[in-house]
Amino acid sequence: MATAYRPKVVIVGTGLVGATFGYALLASGLTPEIILIDVNRARAEGEAMDLNHAMPFHRPINIRTGDYPDCAGAAVVVIAAGAAQKPGETRLQLAQRNAEVFRQIVPQVARHAPDTILLIATNPVDPLTYLAWRLSGFPPQRVIGAGTILDTARLRYLLGARYDVDPRSVHAYIVGEHGDSEVALWSSAAIAGMSLQDFCRLTGHTCTEEEEREIFAQVRDAAYHIIELKGATYYAIASGLERIVESILRDQNTVLSVSGLLKDCYGVSDLCLSLPMVINREGISRVLCVPMSQAEQERFRASAQVVRSVVDGLEVPEVAY
Ligand code: NAD
Repeated sequence: MATAYRPKVVIVGTGLVGATFGYALLASGLTPEIILIDVNRARAEGEAMDLNHAMPFHRPINIRTGDYPDCAGAAVVVIAAGAAQKPGETRLQLAQRNAEVFRQIVPQVARHAPDTILLIATNPVDPLTYLAWRLSGFPPQRVIGAGTILDTARLRYLLGARYDVDPRSVHAYIVGEHGDSEVALWSSAAIAGMSLQDFCRLTGHTCTEEEEREIFAQVRDAAYHIIELKGATYYAIASGLERIVESILRDQNTVLSVSGLLKDCYGVSDLCLSLPMVINREGISRVLCVPMSQAEQERFRASAQVVRSVVDGLEVPEVAY
């Protein structure tokens, strides 16, 4: 018999990203129950206490530490466990270290919560989403990587600031790897249904390729700058994770740029990479292989190659799909 749908959310890895996401989730009122799991039990206990003490300012829910059997019945299990990027270290260099962590975590989650949706935040997020899919044996729809949700938010924030509009009124996507090879889809970027060029003409702004290059560099290198300044990034990714979980729990069919298994998009297959995807209670209900200019298609394929080379270096179990 299928497990009853209960919007319990489990967070595995209660460091800066996991705990900040826990706070965003508590404030959102989306779930009646949050379970915190960490190999560092004391850290999880401390975060559970701190979050519980915020509850009188929000609404009563059940927040507690747990272990893998507590994943049973969870609607979503968010994995933010593992080492964070060191100054100067690329996301891809993290792969081997965090793959080991995933080999400890994912099979246990899959055993206790065979119907859950896995949401991966740990970097490098694309290869690890692929590894999590293979380790879990889940259908690909139920394994989602945070992917470029954060990079897309950074692009929208910067474009909104440049053109004096609410970033929520900017429609523009970063696709491909969450990392140095990511791709900005300028050809489909829009404000009020207009291309950026039309918007600039109408409003008297400038809109040059040089400006596009500058903004893209700020998006691509944002994590390096923030890590230099304060050691880690966590608020924006926590908000992005909360937005993905909202779309799942409320069955919203929201289009979000997240990482999922691709099957022939511009020649890219059998790899987890970001594209705009429709997210609902089933997980990824559709992967949107959106129109791209010729140059964007080439960059997208090159980005896939970067992720492929990392995946090829990991020991990934076989799976039939
Ligand atoms: P952190 O060091 O603060 O927290 C990591 C936590 O994982 C620690 O509490 C640690 O005890 C726990 N952990 C390690 N091994 C574990 C295991 N085997 N089982 C359970 N828990 C385990 O790091 P952080 O700043 O929270 O970052 C976490 C991850 O998120 C990193 O890989 C980081 O690069 C990534 N991240 C991703 C994005 C994104 O956009 N996807 C953004 C920021 C950070």
